[in-house]
Parts: sequence; structure tokens; C-alpha cells
Amino acid sequence: MMLENIARAAHVIRKYNSIAVLTGAGVSRESGIPTFRDAQVGLWARYNPQELATYEAFTRHPKLIWDWYTYRRAIVKNVTPNPGHYAIARLEQLKPETVVVTQNVDELHEIAGSKEVVHLHGLINQNRCSHDCQGYPTLIDIDSFAWNVNDGPPRCPHCGAYVRPNVTWMGEALPLVALNRAWDIAKHCDVMVVVGTSGMISPASLLPNLAHSNGAIVIEINPDVTPISRVANIRLAGKSGEVLPELVEAVANE
Ligand code: NAD
Ligand code: ZN
Repeated sequence: MMLENIARAAHVIRKYNSIAVLTGAGVSRESGIPTFRDAQVGLWARYNPQELATYEAFTRHPKLIWDWYTYRRAIVKNVTPNPGHYAIARLEQLKPETVVVTQNVDELHEIAGSKEVVHLHGLINQNRCSHDCQGYPTLIDIDSFAWNVNDGPPRCPHCGAYVRPNVTWMGEALPLVALNRAWDIAKHCDVMVVVGTSGMISPASLLPNLAHSNGAIVIEINPDVTPISRVANIRLAGKSGEVLPELVEAVANE
């Protein structure tokens, strides 16, 4: 069944040009970055990531949230792309109109070689003023000045507000340029490959429906069934690091 579905999916990708790949935390999991739905480890085991990743939590406990990002940044810094990321980059070589839309805040798609990557939720390695005092986004290079890690987050050199990671927290609006681009891609793509996302966080979770209702063929790669499965024309139940290389190899060889 799986092999048959991979062949079907490869055939569809072969046939069309405009391919969108929507990715979530599941794609980076085999690189060693835990998803928000994985059990957290060590010091952070007693916290729920969904509750840490909010502006409210940051205002109430700036040092705690900053320290959590320091921990997550250390994980991201030490990992490398996995075969799933490389397969997506290879797909772009086979099908030049491939675009990646990701909810991931790491840069593993770029490191693997993908050229066209839309980041819906920002980048964990960037920082910005929490008041965006110079306009959105007021990016701050925290290595350009001295600050004491024991005092919590560094302060914005323009206005003195706390500096925060340049990521989208739960309940916050997505960066408009990226969101508009993603919306446009979803509306116009021929095929959307949805990989490693739980489909529970909107508006990213709406993109497969939008693509589907505009006539695109939706292919889902995820070991688990998700709300996106309902609109998936083809479901490949497996790990992205295993399924994607097989799929892209089949596209290359068909
Ligand atoms: P999620 O944690 O809600 O869901 C992860 C999904 O990946 C699940 O459906 C799970 O079944 C699937 N999955 C797990 N292992 C997989 C594998 N090997 N192959 C394929 N699928 C696999 O993730 P989400 O939907 O991206 O939303 C969570 C939010 O957390 C996002 O806003 C994202 O920005 C943030 N986040 C990002 C990272 C990262 O950048 N790497 C890591 C954790 C969380
Ligand atoms: Zn500022």
C-alpha cells in the first residue's frame, strides 16, 4: 500500500510544476529537535511548551522564557539536516517551481540547500525589540553590546524594552509578508505536500484546505492522522526522513 501510494504521489508531482511543500516540527524531529508535542526533557519537563511560547508568559517571566530559548537555541545550533530536508532540496532541483513554506524556526531547509523558503513563524536565531520601537521587525544584534545573562533578556539599545526572539508566539499575528506569500502559494499551487505538521495551529493549518479548495492535490506525510488528513488526496503514513527520500527518488526515476 505504502509503495503504491509513493508511486501515485511521485506520479502526481512529476505531472505538475507548481509544488508547495508545507513543513512543521515533524520534519526536524529526526534531526533531534523535539516537537512541541513531544515530552520535554530535563529542567523543562515540567513546563508545557505551548504555555511558554506566549507573549503573556514573556511579560510575566522574561528570564524564564529567555532561558528556555537559550536552551532551544543550543539544540538548534548542534543539529544538522536529516534526509527529509535533503530530499526537499533535491525536489527543488527536479522541479524548479518548488517552494517551501515552513512553520519551523530553525534553518535546516536552507542548510540542506532549499532556496525558496517562506518562514511563517520567524527564526529562532534572530532577536527583536519586544516593542518593535523602530517599526516591525526591529531586529537587534545582541552580540554587538554587553549584557548580563543573570538579569534576563538583554535590553533594546533604542528604547530599553526587553529583547525577544524573532518568532511568532501562540496567539500572535504572523509576519504579514510571509503570510501573504504563503496564502498566494496555497491558492495557486498544483500540488501541496504537507509534512510533519499537526495541523492544529492556525493560520498555517488552513493552508492545505485553501490549496485543496483551489483544486490542488494534497499529499500528507505524517505517521499520525491529523485534521489535514481529511483533505489529503494521498496519505503517506511514515517518518519524513524515510518517506521523503523514497518519494523524491521515485520522482527522479519515473
Ligand atoms: P507539532 O509539534 O504541533 O506537530 C508535529 C507533527 O509532526 C505531529 O503531527 C507528528 O505526528 C509529526 N511527526 C513527528 N515525527 C515525525 C516524523 N519523523 N516525520 C513526519 N512527521 C512527524 O508541530 P507544528 O505543526 O509544526 O506546530 C508547532 C509549533 O511549534 C509551530 O509553530 C513551530 O513554529 C513550533 N516548533 C518549531 C520547531 C522547529 O523549528 N524545529 C520545533 C518545535 C516547535
Ligand atoms: Zn526598542
